[in-house]
Amino acid sequence: MSREPLDQSRKLVTELPGPKARELHERLETYVPKAVSPSTPAFAARAEGGIVEDVDGNRLIDLGAGIAVTTVGASHPKIVQAVQEQVADFTHTCFMVTPYESYVQLAQRLDGLVPISGQTRTVLLNSGAEAVENAVKVARAYTGKQAIAAFDNAYHGRTTLTMGLTAKNMPYKESFGPFASETYRVPGSYPYRDGLTGAQAAARTIESLETQIGANQLAAVIMEPIQGEGGFIVPAEGFLAKIVEWCKANNVLFIADEVQTGFARTGDWFASTTEGIEPDLITLAKGIAGGMPLSAVTGRADVMDAVHAGGLGGTYGGNPVAVAAALASLEVMEEEELSAKANRIGELITEHFTRIQKDDARVGDIRGRGAMMAIEFVDPETKEPLAKLVNEIAVEARKQGVITLTAGTYGNVLRFLPPVVIDEDLLQEGLSVITDILAQTK
Ligand SMILES: *Cc1c(COP(=O)(O)O)cnc(C)c1O
Repeated sequence: MSREPLDQSRKLVTELPGPKARELHERLETYVPKAVSPSTPAFAARAEGGIVEDVDGNRLIDLGAGIAVTTVGASHPKIVQAVQEQVADFTHTCFMVTPYESYVQLAQRLDGLVPISGQTRTVLLNSGAEAVENAVKVARAYTGKQAIAAFDNAYHGRTTLTMGLTAKNMPYKESFGPFASETYRVPGSYPYRDGLTGAQAAARTIESLETQIGANQLAAVIMEPIQGEGGFIVPAEGFLAKIVEWCKANNVLFIADEVQTGFARTGDWFASTTEGIEPDLITLAKGIAGGMPLSAVTGRADVMDAVHAGGLGGTYGGNPVAVAAALASLEVMEEEELSAKANRIGELITEHFTRIQKDDARVGDIRGRGAMMAIEFVDPETKEPLAKLVNEIAVEARKQGVITLTAGTYGNVLRFLPPVVIDEDLLQEGLSVITDILAQTK
């Protein structure tokens, strides 16, 4: 089914939300719990490239990609075709009941992409949190140990186990405890705020691991190579390598949670690749399948095989339609050189805000990598987080047709995760809308 391409330009034909969106919002409030609260004042009708078109005919610039998911765009023709063909063949058999080739093909493809030397094996699942849950199961089975260490400002999901690994209380944990036992939090590396070098921060982390948990209790350290929800915190140079080295020396597994950073997002297949580290296990989701729900744990074969037969799986894990989308997405990423494109996006965003920063000291830190960039807004005198300002900017930008996300433990970080296929002009326009709003708040 071919359709008119969606015009890659911002256009507002009503105020946001428009009349249809308003009516839908009333229905949403009646039938959907208030705990699920969308941030954009529009209801999607179509999305493609860097544009989301809403039910009132408005076209919004997408600087969020559905939280780093639609790296290849939300309706890439190759993915549409792959999905349609697979749906026509079969939608589901359950891989644990009757296997199919595409699952194996994707596992083989990931083996060639991840920065883990030697044979790897992959289990496919449905969500990022489910991948993290399974990585923890594997790590415990392999090491025979129970404790899991996660970092300050970490985000690993919203299930009972992953909530405990996630750092931020509101809104993720508040009133939902108790959390799983044998999970611990250790300090990480946040150069803008702690001023430590990678080696200094790693020494602090390792002391905490050794004194508060003990290597002989610790099954795994889990870390996002660039922290996502925590505010796109890039650890100081050398930090990650030192932690991985300590893990290897102490029979502790290192799990890289690349759910957000993976698949061309940070200008390489994985952020671990750029860092030159070799994790034992990698959790993958978000950008993997062009918007279809799919996740994976890829790990060293000997580690993955520590789990008994039947110990990993699930009804929908590795759904064939999602897998078809993933295989097509990986092809698109390669053909369209999306890693290079992501790096170009990173440069544009950095240039843009470096210019703004010269006259506006509230732009405290510009950081991230590739198409995963963030700005931390602070009081220029005290470095106090300016959460209210960031919220104001995001709300106003959305009203003006630019889908914008916030992040950070203190909510004072504006984050940019555009579809990597976005047109550069469109991206520039989105950034200009935001900086015009910023200028008005001075
Ligand atoms: C989003 C995210 C998760 C959770 O993924 P879901 O698919 O929402 O369960 C886990 N880890 C990281 C780093 C994430 O960004």
